[in-house]
Amino acid sequence: MPKIHTEARAIGHAECLVIGGGVIGSSIAYHVAKEGRSTIMLERLIPGEGASGAAVGMLAAESEEFTDSELARFARISRDAFPELVCDLERLSGISVEFRTEGFVTPFRTETEGQKRWKAAKTREDDCPIWWDAKELARRIPGLDEQAIGAIYRSKETQVAPVQLCRAYAGAAAVLGATVWSGTQAEQLVIQNGRVCGVRTDSGFFSCDQVIIAGGLDSMKLLAQVGFEYPLYPVKGEAVAVSLKDHPLEYTIYADDIYLVPKQNNELWIGATSLPHQYDEEVTVGGLEGLLARASAWLPRVREASFIRTWAGLRPQAASGHPFIGTVPGVEGVYAAVGHYRNGVLLSDATGRALAAMLNGAGAAELGISRFSSELLKEESL
Ligand SMILES: Cc1cc2nc3c(=O)[nH]c(=O)nc-3n(C[C@H](O)[C@H](O)[C@H](O)COP(=O)(O)OP(=O)(O)OC[C@H]3O[C@@H](n4cnc5c(N)ncnc54)[C@H](O)[C@@H]3O)c2cc1C
Repeated sequence: MPKIHTEARAIGHAECLVIGGGVIGSSIAYHVAKEGRSTIMLERLIPGEGASGAAVGMLAAESEEFTDSELARFARISRDAFPELVCDLERLSGISVEFRTEGFVTPFRTETEGQKRWKAAKTREDDCPIWWDAKELARRIPGLDEQAIGAIYRSKETQVAPVQLCRAYAGAAAVLGATVWSGTQAEQLVIQNGRVCGVRTDSGFFSCDQVIIAGGLDSMKLLAQVGFEYPLYPVKGEAVAVSLKDHPLEYTIYADDIYLVPKQNNELWIGATSLPHQYDEEVTVGGLEGLLARASAWLPRVREASFIRTWAGLRPQAASGHPFIGTVPGVEGVYAAVGHYRNGVLLSDATGRALAAMLNGAGAAELGISRFSSELLKEESL
């Protein structure tokens, strides 16, 4: 006989329970609470300690050059919402997310590659790239590799400090009435008569009407409990921060082989390696060597920079190649937002908004994300 959990025995109740306090779960908690729905977010560590804490924070909606048109559109919507989002989050939470708007530069060393990519960039709907020739590039970014023949400049690309973003989402959600349970691990979804009624955790039982699974890589275990297989695997990424002292970089350099992202206090974040199926979070000497060699090839003064720190994280990649956002088939009241791979920070706002709209009855097609939902899975299995 399964245990019957009643609200009276629960240590907490909310209409909506969000599992995971990464950038995705925190954004969902914020947007759901903003809609006036009672919300609890469960995080086994503290918000921003998972993959989100390893991110560099680029909102690279154009520079990523997405080939999937639905993902490209979703990414642009998310990036373009940030100026207003940042104002709201900073006002509510009192946390600065270090939003920067100088734009991203993708430099090239050969005319053939530069012209090919520039032609493609110009044809993308809604993008407004600008071509900088070698002279303009040298003027804009003094000290860049002299072999650079030109670059695509994308003025609308922006960036944030990802841990602060997570904490600002969570803080703003709390101000709007949500409760954040840090240090609480969700262990078992509790289902009665085909619908979810709560979650058993290491702190006790929480009752709810809806559950949203946003546990990054570890979401698979919870999804499997309701019979939903959505394979995810890690893509390890290593990064390093250095200080350029008196010669800060103004623009983010988003080259094909490396990115250099200027942060506060003259920090420069350099990333990242891409190692599929590696589960450890160690930084290897080889990884670091490669990052610094590629970075100093583009910006030789990196060699004179002082070392600050290095870190690694595991990007949650879906075997399907795209995130899953929406209702989980088979059990009523269960939703998921998983598999954001290398773009979770970028897609966080649009994902949070989409889930909040879905709880209010919106369908994936109406939101323009049927490609990421169970509607598509049904079609694929036909
Ligand atoms: C080096 C590197 C650089 C990156 N740079 C960028 C970038 O510039 N821009 C960008 O958009 N993206 C970037 N990313 C990708 C980005 O970090 C991820 O896409 C994003 O963090 C995924 O967020 P998430 O909330 O899904 O997962 P996570 O951040 O991993 O959050 C999941 C959370 O759920 C919690 N959790 C899991 N299971 C449970 C449970 N059972 N109970 C309670 N809590 C649970 C975990 O503790 C964790 O905090 C980068 C990633 C790396 C590694």
